[in-house]
Amino acid sequence: MKIINPATQEVIKEVEADNKETLDKKLDLLKQGTKEWGQLGINKRIEIIKNFVSELEKNKEGLSFVLTRETGKPLQESHNEVNGAIYRTQYFIDNADHWLSKKIVHTEGNTQEFLSFDPLGVVANISAWNYPFLVGVNVFVPALLAGNTVFYKPSEYATLTGLNIEKALRDAGVPENAFQCAIGDKEVGEVLLDYPLDGYFFTGSYKTGQYIAKRVADKLVPVGLELGGKDPLYITDDVLSVEQAAASALEGAFYNNGQSCCAVERIYVHEKIYDAFTREFVAQAEDLEIGDPFDPEINQGPITRGQHLDFLEAQVKDATSKGATLLIGGQRLEDEEGNYFPPTVLVGVDHTMDIMKEETFGPVIGIQKVTSDNNAIELMQDTQYGLTAGVFCQDQERATKILDQIDSGNSYINCCDRVSPYLPWSGRKNSGLGSTLSYLGILAFAKPRGHHVRTLK
Ligand code: NAD
Repeated sequence: MKIINPATQEVIKEVEADNKETLDKKLDLLKQGTKEWGQLGINKRIEIIKNFVSELEKNKEGLSFVLTRETGKPLQESHNEVNGAIYRTQYFIDNADHWLSKKIVHTEGNTQEFLSFDPLGVVANISAWNYPFLVGVNVFVPALLAGNTVFYKPSEYATLTGLNIEKALRDAGVPENAFQCAIGDKEVGEVLLDYPLDGYFFTGSYKTGQYIAKRVADKLVPVGLELGGKDPLYITDDVLSVEQAAASALEGAFYNNGQSCCAVERIYVHEKIYDAFTREFVAQAEDLEIGDPFDPEINQGPITRGQHLDFLEAQVKDATSKGATLLIGGQRLEDEEGNYFPPTVLVGVDHTMDIMKEETFGPVIGIQKVTSDNNAIELMQDTQYGLTAGVFCQDQERATKILDQIDSGNSYINCCDRVSPYLPWSGRKNSGLGSTLSYLGILAFAKPRGHHVRTLK
């Protein structure tokens, strides 16, 4: 496999992909490991995962460098990502024992009822490239802590980071028979789907997620899906500052070039402040610096997958052909070697256009004027996705009333594009199935067992 730098199109490295034979050997190791790793006990596993945090801390610079090189995200954002992975892992370290330990839930006469949790076994963690550390730790950390062994398949666009994660875990003390990396593209992923694994945890697109769920359905094992979104943000006429709302919306739309599952993908603005907001948003977008992701002055590097440039241009063309107005951006930067696409803002948009309905996953945003909260609610709800939804409003009761009518896994008031390990990360509708993070994202990797213990006299 050739690993390409999206900023220059240079080959960074060639890596040997796995094949059926090497994957079979890895599977054998992981199967053998379930007993040993499971019997190690939660406290020892926590110690090992603490070492993993130390490895991330110690190697932060090098890990961030490689991440920027293979995905094109600005170096500062790579630092943020490694720090975020440490923060999330710490949450699991602090909370796994509590949630996975035995719980007496009821006593009736001479009968005690209690609950305990067993690991699932060998689980697949098929992962995306946009935040490989973050979406990785969401799965493999709680899975390992719960006593599972993990077959981790990083995205083919984040292979080097996947290998770095494997090394960090190994150096931390996770044995070879508890964690293995499957290197390659979807063909390698398909082999994992063929195996009789005990759980499939996938982060990626709706299309692949739906396919995987169908493909493994007969196995009747847990399937977790963290999929795409078309996340709406509504700016009401009651904001503290239009400038501040525009800055948050801008970051939500363009951080990591919009390549975030919870990126702001469409903006609705109350007609009373629409002109002021749009003017401010565009002015701020024009200030974004695009270029070499290693340059500390830049805000946007190249987008990760070259073929996605065609998709972004097609979405812009679809919108303008149906009457939208392009305020800035709109097409790739032809003079650049890398996959550079400038911040793009469309107005005069509506829901006949793909830009307001289909996941964009790039630095392109549509801003639509609305006349009332009800008008906004109707449009926000007009989607197949349900990952997050946000409202900017000083009146939190009004914001809550709006958000309660939107079917999404996370609600944001006066913020957006935010993930917390304390809260479940859970998509509704085409955005996913199940939950990662929070205590639900710990229990997702364990099988409950109910115990009925009667003491006879
Ligand atoms: P993708 O679906 O193309 O690929 C994801 C992973 O699946 C990769 O490792 C890929 O090799 C593998 N894969 C692809 N086809 C497969 C097959 N037939 N069998 C087995 N494995 C297969 O997605 P992507 O481009 O890597 O990621 C972008 C998508 O992920 C976006 O839609 C984004 O919104 C979503 N995402 C969601 C979350 C979340 O938490 N909800 C987080 C990050 C990304």
